Amino acid sequence: MPLTIQLDQQTLRIDQPGDVLGLLQREGKTLYQPEWQELQWINNPGCPLVNLLEVDGRVVSLLLWANRPLRDGMVIRTRSEALEAELTERLQQLRNRGECRFIRHLQEFAAAEAESSGLVNLETRSAWQFEPRISVPSIFHDPNVCVRCQACVDECNMFQWVGALRFDEKLGVLFDDAKCTRCGQCIHRCPMGMRKIPNAGARWMGCMRCPFSRPLGAMREVDQTQQVGEALETKYVVVQFAPAVRATLGEEFGMPPGSLTVGQLYAALRRLGCRQVWDTNFAADLTIMEEGHEFLHRLQNSGRLPMFTSCSPAWIRYCETFYPDLIPHLSTAKSPQQMFGAAAKTYAAQKLGVDPRQMFVVSIMPCTAKKFEASRPEMDSACRYWRQQGLLEPHEHFPDVDVVLTSREAAKLLKMAKIHLPDMPEEPPDSLLGRYTGAATIFGRTGGVMEAALRTAYELATGQPLPKLEFETLGTMEGMKTASIPLDGMTLRVAVVHTLGNAREVCQSVREGGQFAQFHFIEFMACEGGCIGGGGQPIPTDLSTRKARTYALNQDDRRQPVRKSHLNPEIQQLYQDFLQKPLGHLSHLLLHTSYVDRSQPISAEKAPSL
Ligand code: SF4
Ligand code: SF4
Repeated sequence: MPLTIQLDQQTLRIDQPGDVLGLLQREGKTLYQPEWQELQWINNPGCPLVNLLEVDGRVVSLLLWANRPLRDGMVIRTRSEALEAELTERLQQLRNRGECRFIRHLQEFAAAEAESSGLVNLETRSAWQFEPRISVPSIFHDPNVCVRCQACVDECNMFQWVGALRFDEKLGVLFDDAKCTRCGQCIHRCPMGMRKIPNAGARWMGCMRCPFSRPLGAMREVDQTQQVGEALETKYVVVQFAPAVRATLGEEFGMPPGSLTVGQLYAALRRLGCRQVWDTNFAADLTIMEEGHEFLHRLQNSGRLPMFTSCSPAWIRYCETFYPDLIPHLSTAKSPQQMFGAAAKTYAAQKLGVDPRQMFVVSIMPCTAKKFEASRPEMDSACRYWRQQGLLEPHEHFPDVDVVLTSREAAKLLKMAKIHLPDMPEEPPDSLLGRYTGAATIFGRTGGVMEAALRTAYELATGQPLPKLEFETLGTMEGMKTASIPLDGMTLRVAVVHTLGNAREVCQSVREGGQFAQFHFIEFMACEGGCIGGGGQPIPTDLSTRKARTYALNQDDRRQPVRKSHLNPEIQQLYQDFLQKPLGHLSHLLLHTSYVDRSQPISAEKAPSL
């Protein structure tokens, strides 16, 4: 039987069954849009908070009504006084509180679920007035938002085997700052930071462009977006982004996992106002030059083996805290992030004629521990270089990397600037520190650093190209992987390990002279899957997203015209014009580091036992 529907001023006869959204689309209706100038930073036409319509005299959200069937006599309005009044009120609230009511509803939904599971009493919770707890400078915990589900505690204790979080009946979740590696894996577990609405139909969520989307949750990163905003006004801002970020940031803008956005990201960061848009991948190639030479030097001169990779700062802190006796195994090569900072404020500043004191290095990283790494007091080698050159007064000081944003924070910053990543054209990076090889891009996934190092080290040691560039067994999601490679009359034994729980097992084996003590080179990554599963990556991060992101990085490797770090022409230029040679005097000053025994007051015995 035909239906009669009133849609705004029209009376329609509908012969076929259908839903509300279908009718709106068929009739070419758009929803009432508020005055966007009112709230400049909302640029999201799909936002469920503001996409409203009136049905039978009630103002409702399109999110909830899109798929409801049409009924005879229904009155639907896309413009009305009631709609305008409701929107004005919502926007006013948004502006006053600086937060999205819809996201808060989601959090309250999660809280109600926690209460019904007996985890928390919401009445008691409403009276909590705890101070925030911070694992400086990376992780922020808001105990008043927490529902005490202990998922973060389980992650830290049972998966990462760090034991930095514990649960107190009265106080809730407590950090042991000395033990915490800043890996950020606890953040991924917090239900208060998830963007999941069961059965809601993701395409109607439209939250991906909301400036409030990240960071949020009871456990989250320390938000440094404001510092970057201020620097963009006053400093010469240069930016780098990590290998893994090119395969993950699109997710924050609604793109499917595994979307590569490298060219769009260069364009977006340029529009944000960064003066030089460079790439951590360049520095990953540089890391391979230094680390590859260091490995060969150890191999040929009876140095300490197995050599451990040093790119993952949470792994480094873990080793310093729980296995300080193994510090001599760590490569002294800095991570790509820090090599980049040192090269930017010396070599690039000189080439560009920019005062290094004015240069502000922003890193976009998949990792919360990178915030800690950049804050380490020894990460100021450009400053030491310029002091030696007589440029700086003794009181003048600056770090190599000024601010580290997680992928989530970077997305927030772009959204606040109304830059929608998927709409960006593909652009190239700026020259000097921008070009990269396929070897660099696979740094972002488990096994990538090892593969990249082998591509260069093999060729340096034998003078022959590596017969096979890809080692399938090293790139899988297995927690511990091994391979043997014939090299110059010997068999090189290498291993790849990810998650700190697995790292603990391998460290224990090396310490006790077990099977891993017989290896030559071991890659360690603190997070599952490597950086594509880092603590600063888009939420959710699960096995399927990790696999899709890994696939994207492998594709990026294969499409590069140059796939070995030592063949990167900008790296060759850097050595020719500035550094002279790997492991040389300037490399030691700028690109290598030392480590700290952090076992006091922690002792390895206090860590959770295997
Ligand atoms: S950041 Fe890592 S080590 Fe620190 S509390 Fe969270 S899971 Fe544990
Ligand atoms: S911080 Fe998040 S994951 Fe941890 S107990 Fe609280 S609600 Fe649960």
